[in-house]
Amino acid sequence: MSLLDVKNLVTEFKTEDGTVQAVRNISFHIDGGEVLGIVGESGSGKSQTMFSVMGLLADNGAVINGEIVFDGKDISSTNKTKAEKKAYEKIMQTIRGKDMAMIFQDPMTFLNPVLRIETQLIEPLLNHTKMSKAEAKQKSIEMMERVGIPNPQERIRQYPHQFSGGMRQRIVIAIALMCHPKLIIADEPTTALDVTIQAQVLELIQSLQKEQNTSIIMITHDLGVVANMCDRIVIMYGGKIVEQGTDNEIFYEAKHPYTLGLLESVNNPENKEKTELKPIPGSPPDLLHPPVGCPFVDRCEKAMKICKDQEPPLTEITKTQFCSCWLLQKEGMMNHE
Ligand code: SF4
Repeated sequence: MSLLDVKNLVTEFKTEDGTVQAVRNISFHIDGGEVLGIVGESGSGKSQTMFSVMGLLADNGAVINGEIVFDGKDISSTNKTKAEKKAYEKIMQTIRGKDMAMIFQDPMTFLNPVLRIETQLIEPLLNHTKMSKAEAKQKSIEMMERVGIPNPQERIRQYPHQFSGGMRQRIVIAIALMCHPKLIIADEPTTALDVTIQAQVLELIQSLQKEQNTSIIMITHDLGVVANMCDRIVIMYGGKIVEQGTDNEIFYEAKHPYTLGLLESVNNPENKEKTELKPIPGSPPDLLHPPVGCPFVDRCEKAMKICKDQEPPLTEITKTQFCSCWLLQKEGMMNHE
């Protein structure tokens, strides 16, 4: 059984201009101890997918459809009565920070600037375990040491602004790991950091993952970040999963024109730093009025008539690789010839 199983998830946001269909019927899973990358441009629906899972959508957002099962528990938020919604909130409060933790892009939006690091580190332990304050402080110091913060006995008394960006992200990682969660969701955890610090933080996440056998979902716009780090990779575009496969399948056997575009930008020899994706010409679809057919149709060099009119079905390429593109279907090939 998977640790997290998401089936047919649909998430929408009500805005003054209409309904934004941010996540459009996606299904994926992650197993215990696995590292899964979710890759896509901003607005592809990757972060909203994970906010849907964690029950942390903005007030104007809602999960309209879908089944979410975490560690054997149904944590779907759809079709609930008022009383069931209350019970759902209670369950999610217990799960968040204990079994499921999140690392955000900007540590300053997560850390409370007016509270000492000590208060923020011990909080999950006091909320979710029976530890005394003294025991929680001792555990926090050990965790600070583990994530590479020097002088933890003294620095635990300091405030977030007294740490560098990289050190602040290490503190956020320490908070996330405090209760040994089964799943960590890391949303662009290194984007706000400079390149050398990025590498150190990724290495730290990797070594902690191995040590604790935690499952990790790594959300990023940059395929380069997940290279050699993930067991499997999911590619999202226009609120949909367009391709998924193992690390090797995505990097060496990708089939979807969007995945191939992302790879080209990572492998571009002119891109010496290999940190930024060369943007694919065109812009992502407007999810207020999503396309009927393939979401990538307006930017795809291989687009055919059928791509505009009909959504491409999911093609199973191997037991682990799936892709939604008409080029992989007989109808599409006939259209292409
Ligand atoms: Fe391109 Fe058509 Fe495949 Fe979409 S379905 S990626 S438009 S070829």
